[in-house]
Amino acid sequence: MIKIEELHKSYPIGKDSLHVLKGIDLHIKEGEFVSIMGSSGSGKSTLLNIVGLLDVHDAGNYYLNGQLIKDMNEKKAAQLRNKFLGFIFQSFNLISYKTAVENVALPLYYKGISRKERLEIALDYLDKVGLKDWAGHLPNELSGGQKQRVAIARALVTKPKVVLADEPTGALDSTTTDSVMDLLKDINDEGMTVFVITHEEEVAEQTKRIVRLKDGRIISDEFTKASKAV
Ligand code: ADP
Ligand code: MG
Repeated sequence: MIKIEELHKSYPIGKDSLHVLKGIDLHIKEGEFVSIMGSSGSGKSTLLNIVGLLDVHDAGNYYLNGQLIKDMNEKKAAQLRNKFLGFIFQSFNLISYKTAVENVALPLYYKGISRKERLEIALDYLDKVGLKDWAGHLPNELSGGQKQRVAIARALVTKPKVVLADEPTGALDSTTTDSVMDLLKDINDEGMTVFVITHEEEVAEQTKRIVRLKDGRIISDEFTKASKAV
């Protein structure tokens, strides 16, 4: 699903450049539940942004679903994102003046589906994350955990092949964190590839494979206990 070979990324800083990813090799198969662990500044978000086609790499190869990602313009990148990827962010990124169900329905707008049908589909997804009764509420009327559930429903509504989550539990307390991770586990059980960034050990342990990043390099890549549970 995701194949990365000798990937490098630098950011220009004044006249210099900051070498952030220093030769990443990573292969994630369809249906995996993987976390990237690492301290702040280790390059996790940079890697996820490249995987998510939100940023471009400088050297090395990246294949998404078998397709080599190279010389891509924004239009093509957006098409691939809409087709294959769903995103979840630490700060939820919900639109404050739209209700929960409208937020979830938004990605379908670009697919040319009628408003009525969009809202019906979105309501099904809100039901899936346990928030059907909150459909008409605005984000500021929801708790942090509820907001993240809305964001998860929104990530799933286009039926992506891969869900990319950058610190999805970073703004949540531990109980809410567990419920969000349980939801991601359910999604993975249904066959979705899930790729989570975190700096919290307890969160990583709930995924099936932990890739550890340090100073832009992978220092370990191991399956967890959760991967062996039946
Ligand atoms: P993490 O997500 O692991 O905390 P990041 O990938 O966000 O790490 O950042 C890695 C390094 O790259 C940091 O030193 C950060 O300051 C730098 N960085 C991230 N994004 C940019 C950017 N757009 N421009 C310049 N430097 C950046
Ligand atoms: Mg980050």
